[in-house]
Amino acid sequence: MELLVTGGTGLVGNALQKVCPDAVYVGSKDYDLTKEVEVKAMFEKYRPANVIHLAAKVGGIMDNMNHPAEFIFQNVLMNTYVIHYANKYKVKKLIGLISNCAYPDKVEKYPMVEEQLHDGPPAITNFSYAYSKRALEAQLKAYRSQYGCNYFSLIPCNLYGPHDKFDENRSHFLAALIRKIYDTKKNKGRIVRLLGTGKPLRQYLYSEDLAKILLLLSEKYDGEGPINIAPEENISIAQIAKIALKATGSSDLELAFDESFPDGQYRKDICSDKLFGIIGDFKFLSLSDGIKEAYEWYSKSMEQ
Ligand code: NAP
Repeated sequence: MELLVTGGTGLVGNALQKVCPDAVYVGSKDYDLTKEVEVKAMFEKYRPANVIHLAAKVGGIMDNMNHPAEFIFQNVLMNTYVIHYANKYKVKKLIGLISNCAYPDKVEKYPMVEEQLHDGPPAITNFSYAYSKRALEAQLKAYRSQYGCNYFSLIPCNLYGPHDKFDENRSHFLAALIRKIYDTKKNKGRIVRLLGTGKPLRQYLYSEDLAKILLLLSEKYDGEGPINIAPEENISIAQIAKIALKATGSSDLELAFDESFPDGQYRKDICSDKLFGIIGDFKFLSLSDGIKEAYEWYSKSMEQ
């Protein structure tokens, strides 16, 4: 079997299925990757030449703040077993996904480059997720160093798109925003209430753009990680929300910010020069078009 994708049922997994339909995609119902026997059984069954390891416990700020122990426990176990058995089953190439949340909370120079990943503590709002992702990077490096494995990691910025988690407790900002716009329109309301001040700056990457880049790198890159992946645009949550109102034909709605909720990291923009040096230029989907696509997907899924 050529390519096995863990986490194949999530946001990125679904996007990858569109651009690479021939791979095998597994989710937690197929194999619980926090259990060693299930990870071993997965490798025994598929004996893949290559692995894209997307599986992780992923969530928004409140989920991260309420369940830090679960985040670190599950992610460290999944990453540890998947890499260990990939090596045992002689997987040629393995790509793991980190996140720009794993970067330090504050640095002197932005946008951040890959060498800054370990240059200070991550934001307190997602410290356990961040450390599980920094550990993943260290694990991939260790297997490359000791066993010569062609394993490396990618660091995408915040993601969004069809098949995101839109539920109230686990969603990220953009999915929550899309749901709130949809609900406000449906209930003939006027105000979209967002948590926090709206001031933090964010880069957002459409999940299908990440899938295309993942495929390019899995075909043509054999070097060391990590590699940042983000469009250059780094704008405030409030600006993103305004773009979303316009993109979804909801300019008649108003935004209100509930400042009693935490903001999360103020900025975490990353520089993708290393990526462009490998794959050349890449035309990212505009935020407005991406939000339109995600909104249409969500609306259809609610009306089914
Ligand atoms: P997602 O939508 O939450 O999907 C997570 C995937 O992992 C699902 O397929 C899920 O399976 C699987 N999974 C979770 N726990 C598992 C377990 N115990 N055993 C086996 N599989 C398990 O996540 P995503 O947004 O696609 O994220 C993909 C990768 O990108 C992750 O490594 C994440 O850290 C990274 N990333 C995400 C973002 C973002 O904004 N979303 C940003 C940067 C990096 P089920 O569907 O069966 O539960």
